[in-house]
Amino acid sequence: MKVAVIGGGFSGLIFSLKLLEAGVDVTLFEEHEVVGYPPHCTGLVSRRVLGFIGAPAFKSIVSSFDSITLSNGRSRVTLRVRGGVFKLERVKLERLMLEEALSRGLKAFMGVAVKRVSPRGVVEYGDSRIFDSIVVADGYHGLIHRSLGVGYFNPPVYGVNIEYGMVTGSRRVTVVFDSSISRGFFSWLVEMDHGVLAGLGARNPKLLARGLRVLEGKFGLRHRMLAYGGPVITGPPAETLSIGRVHVVGDAGGLNKPLTGGGLYPNSLAASLAKRMILEGVDVNTALSKSLNTVSSMLRKQYKLAKAILEGGVIERILDLLAGEEVGEAVGSVDYDHYEEIPSLAVRRAFWKTVKIGVRTIVENPALLPRIALAILP
Ligand SMILES: Cc1cc2nc3c(=O)[nH]c(=O)nc-3n(C[C@H](O)[C@H](O)[C@H](O)COP(=O)(O)OP(=O)(O)OC[C@H]3O[C@@H](n4cnc5c(N)ncnc54)[C@H](O)[C@@H]3O)c2cc1C
Repeated sequence: MKVAVIGGGFSGLIFSLKLLEAGVDVTLFEEHEVVGYPPHCTGLVSRRVLGFIGAPAFKSIVSSFDSITLSNGRSRVTLRVRGGVFKLERVKLERLMLEEALSRGLKAFMGVAVKRVSPRGVVEYGDSRIFDSIVVADGYHGLIHRSLGVGYFNPPVYGVNIEYGMVTGSRRVTVVFDSSISRGFFSWLVEMDHGVLAGLGARNPKLLARGLRVLEGKFGLRHRMLAYGGPVITGPPAETLSIGRVHVVGDAGGLNKPLTGGGLYPNSLAASLAKRMILEGVDVNTALSKSLNTVSSMLRKQYKLAKAILEGGVIERILDLLAGEEVGEAVGSVDYDHYEEIPSLAVRRAFWKTVKIGVRTIVENPALLPRIALAILP
């Protein structure tokens, strides 16, 4: 079986690696001469994702954390994360993934932009070739999935990361749900031994500069060094991800965790599921479309809850609730890839307070009721 992968970002590389591990003949097309540039991602992943990616991920770890702190500007709550959270150097990660894929037999056309693909397996890039399957991983703005009319087309959140040349003396990840910094999304601070990475997301990119100034003021961030960013995809994933022999993955398909926009977990999971099915004898097109469907239905469930959490200040209230119970202490442990546990953790900690806050939230904002009902119903 011959598979073409269009796009050498994280998603194209993880699908290339897993297909190669399943014994498939893979050809990668990347329009840039090198992978990893320009950087955009914060690079925070769970232990599970390191396991999916393997050696390139372990070699790219720059810092590790056993908890995350959630803040709303008033209350802070620390949650232990099962298995830990890891900050990866993203440019190095993609370079090492490419090197590993090449060592496993990947054929790579670097600096080659694909012009068109067809559901019957044709890839046009100046020359043209036919493949048994095509994995389109051309990113949110990619023209290949857009010209097919298959993929994720909702407006993104715009995210920016800033590296600061200051050392706080702490090693901590803080996620800040504070609408004076970022309305409808959140901001983050990654304090490491060698510096701080901070950033925020906003639906309206014009609000980023103002939000950043407030974030810097509130957290005393100094010495801006490097800024980068891009579209953050918050779902829900595209209804259709496969058409004929073509399968759309990554940001192009909206395969992202809907609360954070994290793309490394869902795509590592989908690629690993496809690999397992191929090794069990399932044909490549069926394995790809089944694994994408499995992951996208999981994300669709997370989406309902993420929307309820982000819109209407639900998370800000949950944080007040948890902080009132045990300020500053680790109040429970969560799965970094399945934050849907956080509200149930709140309920377990303080049932009647949760009910009171829930009722008050709905009385103040009745439009939230159908959304919360949808999130809770199976
Ligand atoms: C600010 C920010 C912070 C983030 N933080 C995290 C995080 O902490 N953890 C996490 O898991 N995720 C995070 N993400 C999300 C994550 O970075 C993305 O989900 C992921 O990088 C998307 O990878 P991709 O390969 O799907 O797309 P892209 O990285 O956009 O790659 C697409 C590739 O396709 C190539 N291409 C496009 N068109 C063609 C063509 N016609 N021919 C050949 N090549 C083509 C492009 O050159 C590019 O290399 C963050 C994103 C942002 C913006």
